[in-house]
Amino acid sequence: MSRTAAAVEQQRRNAWHSVTVDEVVAEFGADPDRGLPVEEIDRRRQRFGENKLTPGSERTALKRLVGQFNNLFIYLLLVAGVITALLGEWLDSGVIFAVVLIIAVIGYVQEGRAERALEAVRNILSPKAWALRDGRRREIPAEQLVPGDVALLEAGDRVPADLRLIRTKNLQAQEAALTGESSAVEKRTEPVDGNADLGDRVCMAYAGTVVTAGQGVGVVVATGDSTELGRISGMLSEVQTLKTPLLQRLDAFSKVLSLAIVALAVATFAVGILVWELPLAEMFFAAVSIAVAAIPEGLPAVMTVTLAIGVERMARRNAIIRRMPAVETLGAVTVICADKTGTLTRNEMTAKTLRTARQDVEVEGVGYEPHGGFLLDDEEIRLDEHPLAMELVRAGLLCNDAAVHREDDEWKPEGDPTEVALVVLARKAGMDPKRENEDRPRLDVIPFASERRYMATLNHDHEGNHFIYVKGAPERLLEMCSRQWQDGQSGEIDVDMWKQRVEEVAGRGQRLLAAARKDLDGEQRELTEADVERDLTLLGLFGLIDPPREEAIEAVAACRSAGIRVKMITGDHGTTARAVARQLGLESVDESLTGHEIDALDDEGLRSAIRRVDVFARASPENKIRLVMALQADNEVTAMTGDGVNDAPALKRADVGISMGLKGTEAAREASEMVLADDNFASIERAVEEGRTVYDNLKKAILFILPTNAAQALIVFTAILLGMMLPITPVQILWVNMITAVTLGIAFAWERAEGDVMRRPPRRTDEPLLTGFVLWRIALVGVVLLLGVGYLFTEEQARAVTSVEFARTMAVNALVMGQIFYLLNARSFTKPAYTLDGLFGSRVVMIAIGACLGLQLLFTYAPFMNTLFGTEALDAGAWARCVAVGLGIFVLVEIEKAVRRKW
Ligand code: ATP
Repeated sequence: MSRTAAAVEQQRRNAWHSVTVDEVVAEFGADPDRGLPVEEIDRRRQRFGENKLTPGSERTALKRLVGQFNNLFIYLLLVAGVITALLGEWLDSGVIFAVVLIIAVIGYVQEGRAERALEAVRNILSPKAWALRDGRRREIPAEQLVPGDVALLEAGDRVPADLRLIRTKNLQAQEAALTGESSAVEKRTEPVDGNADLGDRVCMAYAGTVVTAGQGVGVVVATGDSTELGRISGMLSEVQTLKTPLLQRLDAFSKVLSLAIVALAVATFAVGILVWELPLAEMFFAAVSIAVAAIPEGLPAVMTVTLAIGVERMARRNAIIRRMPAVETLGAVTVICADKTGTLTRNEMTAKTLRTARQDVEVEGVGYEPHGGFLLDDEEIRLDEHPLAMELVRAGLLCNDAAVHREDDEWKPEGDPTEVALVVLARKAGMDPKRENEDRPRLDVIPFASERRYMATLNHDHEGNHFIYVKGAPERLLEMCSRQWQDGQSGEIDVDMWKQRVEEVAGRGQRLLAAARKDLDGEQRELTEADVERDLTLLGLFGLIDPPREEAIEAVAACRSAGIRVKMITGDHGTTARAVARQLGLESVDESLTGHEIDALDDEGLRSAIRRVDVFARASPENKIRLVMALQADNEVTAMTGDGVNDAPALKRADVGISMGLKGTEAAREASEMVLADDNFASIERAVEEGRTVYDNLKKAILFILPTNAAQALIVFTAILLGMMLPITPVQILWVNMITAVTLGIAFAWERAEGDVMRRPPRRTDEPLLTGFVLWRIALVGVVLLLGVGYLFTEEQARAVTSVEFARTMAVNALVMGQIFYLLNARSFTKPAYTLDGLFGSRVVMIAIGACLGLQLLFTYAPFMNTLFGTEALDAGAWARCVAVGLGIFVLVEIEKAVRRKW
């Protein structure tokens, strides 16, 4: 193609906003009513490729490797390496540089591993799209869309490809991803000027933007990299950093630590020169040793792996982390605000009650099986002998988008569970959904939305009669009704009587729905809210049960013992909500607040109410934001669930926003920190448990690694202070810090939760990295190691028979034995380690210790290691003394733990 032809082609491809609907449909061979036939889709996919963006400028491997060197510890090590080289200590200098390289490679590999773990988790969340294919609505992976596909949009969806809209109903989209404009744009189908800016092309819906309201249908005109999104950015990447608050604090800490280390090194240098009048070169060497000893080189790698493993473990338990800091925040959560329907309950609804003006009918049977009779005053009745009840059931069936299908002898639901229950009810009453829909075809619909709390359809009966069916929350319908059906005719509505009935049915814990009808005078083809919201005639009420999830009941109990308060937020009626809250075992179930009551409270009032109340009924998404803010003002760390597009602000605001993987909208998902793959409350509780475990493990890793550094720095410092020979050389120190500390410390990533992890109160978020306890432990283990190693070394030195290499090899092995035994101590903060489980309970720890021992044997006996690290073979007696140092640490730390347990 020549350049001009390419330009024309490009121009034409971009200008779908300026052509008419018919032209687009013709150009793409699309069928607005049936979509593409299946054969055609494969052909187009081969021609146009998958609807996927090519990853843009991902960091190259080399850049990532270089990035590893950008680290304060590494700078210090490099300086140490250069100084050592200047002193002519070529071997040591070589080892230091080799270690720097090893640290970088380990960091690189671990970062890669962590990124792969996150990538896998992200792939679980790959977007879906609704398309019309072969005449059926289907949910497909968004990447399978091809140009010419007819895609369906609904509020909350992320637009899956560039679409030329061919039908819209109140459709609005937020296009900030492309235009930077954050208010939503009203969408229509009429073409606009060819030169219109992206933001003005109202007949287009662009990939990556979010539908905030209404519905629409569009023909796919561009996919993958050819979309506007693909052209401008290459990749709408979510910045997923590996930094959590704890890691950030660790970064800050390492800066301070580095300064302190430099200061210590300088002080050592000064003492050596001024007090002991040692040669300059030797003192340089000593200062380098101090620096190398004190830097916890292995810590960052251990922390990164621990976090990544935690994220993987959460994903396996259905909690998919979208933003890394959530892993830690989860462990500190003090309040969980959960939606009721589907999260705390099973979302498998069954209609149990039919209530008309005169009758209270009980429905038998549970589940989707359309079998079950009807009881009136405990007597079995035939419902078709009761016309008003039948009309109520019919309203529920026609004002409905759900279905149940029989598949392999089992009834399978399709659609909104509330509506499914009404279809099952109609079948129980002997109605055939297909026939009913043919007899009274639908002309238009206002779909259900949580803000509106009703759904309405416009139907006709082939004889020129047009009527509206409405179903929705009773309070809402009572506002819209002026009459009621009773005794075969319509009469004045008795609102008080209905309110009383509502309370009665809600008191049984049933979810309430009312249905109404309006007969229209003339012909009408379109339905507006104004038509629906007045002069309806109430037919009656449905009561639906939705049993709590068994596992949610257990999870609520687990949260309570973990000091986490669970609050239920629901669109349901207050009485229903309280009854369900009682079944679930929430703390405060005698009181509830409705959305209106929340609106009437000022911020202060809400704050004090929220301390008492756990049940929030008839609540709107706006209420949710206020609830989160009130809780946060009370210093609560709040997790909040949500699924709708309007929940997004509350999810963003919450400390941990949790969206639903099954029924949630893309908009909610994007605003959330975590997605529940199974929509289940129990998964939140498990995620909290994992969050606490990960945090514990990070802390344990710090608690394990830092004392060794303290000990080594102390050993070198003391040696210099006393004018002694160094018991360990810099390269030996690096060996301990990098190889043994990491080999052992990494085991914490796989450490299981301690038994009490969900029996203690949430941790404070302002807890410092180095608590008094951590400092104390560092001091304790550090000093004991100093004494043990120092004693062994000086004693060995005093016996003139052995070489300094021998004494140093012993010193290193004593340090490592100390680490191995201390690893067993550090597996639990308080529980004794001298039990079978404490010693042998973790396979990973066993493997780590085995590997470490193998490495030490190599370090001690392999000739090349002897040359590199200046080591010498040990005899059995020496080993026994090294083990004794380790045992000493083990016993002392266990005594300390026992004392703390008593307190
Ligand atoms: P949550 O998930 O927050 O616990 P919810 O999902 O039950 O609550 P909504 O779906 O907003 O809350 O429902 C609120 C009320 O709207 C219900 O109690 C019911 O009366 C009515 N309702 C629910 N679904 C439909 C529907 N498909 N058509 C008509 N009315 C409905």
